[in-house]
Amino acid sequence: MYYGELKKCDIANGIGVRVTLFVSGCTNHCPGCFQPQTWDFDFGKPYTADTEAEIFAELDRGYVDGLTVLGGEPFEPNNQPELCRLLRHVKERYPQKNIWVFSGFRLDDELLRDGSYPRGQYTDEMLSYIDILVDGRFTQELKDISLQFRGSRNQRVIDLKKTLASGKIVIWDQLRR
Ligand code: SF4
Repeated sequence: MYYGELKKCDIANGIGVRVTLFVSGCTNHCPGCFQPQTWDFDFGKPYTADTEAEIFAELDRGYVDGLTVLGGEPFEPNNQPELCRLLRHVKERYPQKNIWVFSGFRLDDELLRDGSYPRGQYTDEMLSYIDILVDGRFTQELKDISLQFRGSRNQRVIDLKKTLASGKIVIWDQLRR
């Protein structure tokens, strides 16, 4: 897996202060995507044990609320094995910190649907570690810059713990817009 950037002290991609990993590779190719350079699976640097150590060094800080993963596309099948390992380690070491993931794939009819392109052997385990999933492809016709944490109105900020427990989509209750 490759990544384009590791942002420390990020306050834009989730609640509180976060460490944010931008992974590389995306086959969604949404028209109007604001970072098409990240579609390339070899964009940026290889993700290594040193990258993980850097993430943990940030998460060790008491004021960091959690980890955010975005892309590119975190749920690309090529990215899932490495990311699943990372999310597992984060939850083991920092059970009190939260994990946000941004994905162009929709939860109900793609990530959870058997036979869909992104669903594989790591998908359910990854989902089990995520607190908030922002899902759906960026859609230019539905673009709205006033929205929190998303670029177009079709995208959803999902409380994944409550959603998986109830079997129906639960939108995060702290969302203002
Ligand atoms: S899913 Fe995200 S990174 Fe991929 S093309 Fe769409 S907006 Fe760009």
